[in-house]
Amino acid sequence: MHTDIDALLREIARDVQPLLAEGRVADYIPALSLVPREQFGIAVATVDGRLYGAGDSERRFSIQSLSKMYALALALQREGDALWQRVGREPSGTPFNSLVQLERERGVPRNPFVNAGALVVVDVLCRRYLQPERAVLELVHRLLGEASVAIDGDVARSEREHSDRNAAIAHFMRSFGNLHGDVAALLDAYCAQCAIAMSCSELARASLFLAADGAQPRGARVVDALAARRIGALMLTCGAYDAAGDLACRIGLPIKTGVGGGIVAIVPGRLCVCAWAPGLDANGNSIAAAAAIERFAAAIGASIFAGD
Ligand code: GLN
Repeated sequence: MHTDIDALLREIARDVQPLLAEGRVADYIPALSLVPREQFGIAVATVDGRLYGAGDSERRFSIQSLSKMYALALALQREGDALWQRVGREPSGTPFNSLVQLERERGVPRNPFVNAGALVVVDVLCRRYLQPERAVLELVHRLLGEASVAIDGDVARSEREHSDRNAAIAHFMRSFGNLHGDVAALLDAYCAQCAIAMSCSELARASLFLAADGAQPRGARVVDALAARRIGALMLTCGAYDAAGDLACRIGLPIKTGVGGGIVAIVPGRLCVCAWAPGLDANGNSIAAAAAIERFAAAIGASIFAGD
């Protein structure tokens, strides 16, 4: 086990520099295409309250699909296992914004992390909250113990103006009866939730409940232990879409990726690590952030499949 985490993170931040020129910044959301590519941050938060960081670990970026972890936690808190009647728990093997499986599976998405599944989760939240995106944001505030994190209105508007694909997914699921609310309101809430801006260190801290059986260390319970373990299982099998298997082999941890370039990984019982770099591979996962987390997990022996 590497004992000097700060030194390890600095070393990783230096070693991934050549990767920052690789990949493409997400440009299907125009506001995200303006983010300079040559940036990298990494942060680690431990369940016993320590925080480490290197590079741009305090710079906020668009969390995008990382928000799906928090929205799912909230929906499970409110709905319990009834949620699984409307969303599956299987890897998709398809891109995050794919429609192809929905027809065969009669409008029930494969899992809550592909866009279709995340839209059903938001539909569930729409019935519970007037402004579901505020409920997700307030959960993040509670997880952090302070309220400075906000929704980036420009990113939310930019995605909303280009949300034909997600609109198609939502209408298609509605035609099967698996979406109950108004599609326009659903898309407003979904795009706003994805446009929450957070730093690596905020994301690592806010995700600790997933490493601590559902209760934020020294804070409130978010979900019960079983729900937290289920979210972890879904992150391992579905958190990186059609690259989930490859990243499980490389990293060996539950992870969630987002097209803003962030990746959060959970080391159960110990810590959360978040890395960020805007350049994405063809699956929409950050190239340098994946490499950084792979390196970190190997250095501290974090794989959940390790025998020691
Ligand atoms: N808001 C993005 C979308 O719906 C989230 C995708 C992602 O981060 N993978 O396309």
